Amino acid sequence: MSASKRTIVITGGSKGIGRAICLRFAREGARIIFVHYDPDDLAERKTLGLLDKMNVEAVSEKLDVSSFRDVEAFFQKVVKDFQKVDVLVNNAGITRDAFLMRMSEEQWDQTLQVNLKSVFNCTKAVTRSMIKQRSGRIINISSVVGQIGNIGQSNYGASKAGIMGFTKTVARELANRGITVNAVAPGFINTEMTQKLPDKAKEAFLSQIPMGRIGEPDEVANTVYWLASEDATYITGQVIHVSGGLYM
Ligand code: NAP
Repeated sequence: MSASKRTIVITGGSKGIGRAICLRFAREGARIIFVHYDPDDLAERKTLGLLDKMNVEAVSEKLDVSSFRDVEAFFQKVVKDFQKVDVLVNNAGITRDAFLMRMSEEQWDQTLQVNLKSVFNCTKAVTRSMIKQRSGRIINISSVVGQIGNIGQSNYGASKAGIMGFTKTVARELANRGITVNAVAPGFINTEMTQKLPDKAKEAFLSQIPMGRIGEPDEVANTVYWLASEDATYITGQVIHVSGGLYM
């Protein structure tokens, strides 16, 4: 096991933006540890296969990131097995859309648990080891919706705005420990999450994007990678929008 190799933990790494992030870090030869939740592990196997082709050390685990206890146990095992986590990318997320008047308590709670509580769970669980090593990068995937809102997504928008507040606060708490904490806020990106939107909703989004096109997962992954690189040593507490100008 090479000590110089970075260890990267990515939540929701089985598909979409998370998979693109795994592959981006794999290009430097990093050790990739990703988690996902769906018991149907087709997407997980595809990501592992792609990582295998790149000849990198990769591990995946089925983990519900909204479970405080399971997340704590997972990170204890990661630190025991690999001694350190250099980068944590909190990417796992879901949508449970409905107009406020029709939104159930379950839709609200699930979205907040998976999108926001997970970020607290994973960040808290990894922080002790990052403080010990006096270095670390934490990158949280928020959304443009956390900043500008979106009809039918009061739960999602609240969770993503919560991530921005969390990012800035924890960035302040950890700044003098050599740890940076930033958020990336994607706009409308080509993944399963957006593929399932009705055509009318997709057209409405597209008409608001100054660059006139949907973004690709790689374009988000490149920004995450840059925030975790030596080119971003003096950046913390920021929200970087990757949205083709949808938010400016
Ligand atoms: P996606 O294709 O639906 O992938 C979501 C990932 O999260 C999957 O790997 C999924 O794993 C995992 N996940 C879901 N619930 C989980 C749980 N309880 N525990 C662990 N993992 C869980 O979504 P995406 O479009 O790539 O989105 C990735 C992130 O970017 C999300 O946070 C999303 O809110 C954000 N984002 C996306 C867009 C966009 O336009 N696509 C825009 C702004 C922000 P399983 O399938 O195995 O459950």
